Amino acid sequence: MHSSLGTQRWVALLPIAVVMLPTVCLLWFMTQAVRNERLAVRQKLVDAYRATLADTRANTERRWAAAVERLVRDLPTDPIEIFRTLIATPPEANDPDHPFRIQAMMVCDPSGQVVYPRLDLADSPQANTADRSDLFQEAWQAEYVQGNLSEAATLYQRLALRGPDPTVQVSATVGAVRCLAKIGQARQAAILAQQTLAEFKSPDSHLATLLVNLRIESVQIMAGSGLPQYPEKAKEFFQEALDYQALDLTSRTRAFALAKAIDLLPQDLARGPLLQQVRMARALHEAELLSMQISEQISVAEALGGGTAGGSGGQVKRLQAEGFWGLRVEKGGNHLLLIFDKTHLTEGLTRLIRQDLRESLSFRFVDEKGQPDRDVDGDAMILGTYAVGGFLPAWGIDVFFKGDSLFTEAARRQQALYIWIGTLVIVLIVAAAAVSTQAIHRQIRLNRLKNDFIATVTHELKTPLASMRVLVDTLIDGHTRDSGQAAEYLQLIAKENLRLTGLIDNFLTFSRMECNKQAFALVPTDPALVVQDAVEAVKTKFGMADCQFQVNMDKDLPMVMADHDALVTVLVNLLDNACKYTGDRKEISLRVWAGDHAVYFSVSDNGVGIPRRSMRRIFEKFYQVDQTLSRKAGGCGLGLAIVRFIADAHHATVGVDSKVGQGSTFTVRLPTRVR
Ligand code: ADP
Repeated sequence: MHSSLGTQRWVALLPIAVVMLPTVCLLWFMTQAVRNERLAVRQKLVDAYRATLADTRANTERRWAAAVERLVRDLPTDPIEIFRTLIATPPEANDPDHPFRIQAMMVCDPSGQVVYPRLDLADSPQANTADRSDLFQEAWQAEYVQGNLSEAATLYQRLALRGPDPTVQVSATVGAVRCLAKIGQARQAAILAQQTLAEFKSPDSHLATLLVNLRIESVQIMAGSGLPQYPEKAKEFFQEALDYQALDLTSRTRAFALAKAIDLLPQDLARGPLLQQVRMARALHEAELLSMQISEQISVAEALGGGTAGGSGGQVKRLQAEGFWGLRVEKGGNHLLLIFDKTHLTEGLTRLIRQDLRESLSFRFVDEKGQPDRDVDGDAMILGTYAVGGFLPAWGIDVFFKGDSLFTEAARRQQALYIWIGTLVIVLIVAAAAVSTQAIHRQIRLNRLKNDFIATVTHELKTPLASMRVLVDTLIDGHTRDSGQAAEYLQLIAKENLRLTGLIDNFLTFSRMECNKQAFALVPTDPALVVQDAVEAVKTKFGMADCQFQVNMDKDLPMVMADHDALVTVLVNLLDNACKYTGDRKEISLRVWAGDHAVYFSVSDNGVGIPRRSMRRIFEKFYQVDQTLSRKAGGCGLGLAIVRFIADAHHATVGVDSKVGQGSTFTVRLPTRVR
């Protein structure tokens, strides 16, 4: 008892040991793995990407060299044109083949003279002539000292017509136009200006400056007086200011002319059809000013490279002018210094590098002073820093992952895989545990059955054998009073023998049943013959006991598909029990009737009855309601188990109806049609 309880406990604990422990361990490993996966994926990606960075660097360097070469090849030779080309017609914003966005420029000719930016001219002789002309002085006095504007206008006009040279004439015209405008003769002023402007074509640089003044003056007058030709003339002036071929101007004058020309443009033109040109003009204006400003800050030696910059090697170097970098190239014997600020330089480089780096990567530049061009998001992970290339010495590129999404995505896939594998393993463990638990249970049950069987068999066989032996010994020794007693003893021996045979029959049936070796031959069988044989088998026993036995059987019972002997065993067992579990006055009946596609066999007695709670269990092997009573009656708890087994094999059902102290009825329903 104790040992079986121990076994049961062990069997109950088995699934816990077999399933729970590995599952818990597996879950723990899975959590760890999932947690580590992100880091692992990150590391893997970092390694993979790092390997590509060296290629990126080599590509960048190659592209830069190619871009510089293309730039130099495509440039015009004339320094002014170079400037205009680079500034006014920059390449498409995202053209990676033209990474340069130039803000200013310096050009030195082969002799080392700065030919661009065009610096201010020294006072020319003509200018001096104008200043010294008496008539000019007189007109100027009239205009500014005496405030006699019409007098001044007349004097200026006279000088404009008869001046000693074009410079004086144009200067005088500017004065005349100014004075006429002030005294309200705008139309006349405009006509005068136009005449003069038409007269002087292809002027030299100095005269050109004066003509620009005249143009500005005249367009301003037209605009102020609302003269109808104003838009046309403003546009004309604007285009003239943009035309580097037509007007030979110093950088300062050019910048001034461009700024004025933009200002004087009617809004509808500036914002409409001329928008693109206005932008160009603004860029040129700024570049002219910046070029002048930078050329004042750096020496010619620096512009030329001063030996340090490696001539036209396409290297970009920080200039003395704060915040600017220069690229030196050579074109047509001239030395060009192309100037960028940091923003434009890094924009150009970005275009160059972007195509070599994967979409998921982002980068920033770190200049030679270690200054990055922008900040990085807090959680961005720097993949590596590498030198931009020989063309931008000491500059580095920090490459980093754009965000976490890449890792998360890669890790999620791996995590899902882990979870699937983990779940599968757990399912397998559970299944394996279930199968093995079942097998163990089966084994335990079989063992128990075997033990019970051996114990029962030995015990049950011992009793009848012992009593038979006593009786036989008595007969042999001749200890009998008379032949009557000897006959009685023989009767008793026969009874014990009968009991023994019954027991052995049951044991054999049970044994075959357990080994699944019991095969039934289901053939059309007559229920009446079955009943007849069963009654025959119990006749002796029932005859000996004080027993009222009734058999009620319907006539013309249908044939059933059954194993004749097996059915007899069923009825004999039921009748046997009816006899065993009834008191001295036995009333037993066997009723057989047909109905509902079945033949019913019912055995009733007036015996001890079966308590309700035991009713379900009496069909179990070796189960006995009252062990002492059963033993006394010569049972071993197998009869009803055999009945149930045979009934199942016949697709039949066995029911029991019983009341303690009143009796029991067992009914077997055997279908006539077996499916
Ligand atoms: P046994 O060999 O002990 O009779 P069975 O399997 O035939 O074994 O019956 C199991 C138990 O059911 C019996 O031990 C008995 O307690 C109870 N039982 C069976 N038939 C009857 C009956 N007709 N009246 C009362 N109890 C019965």
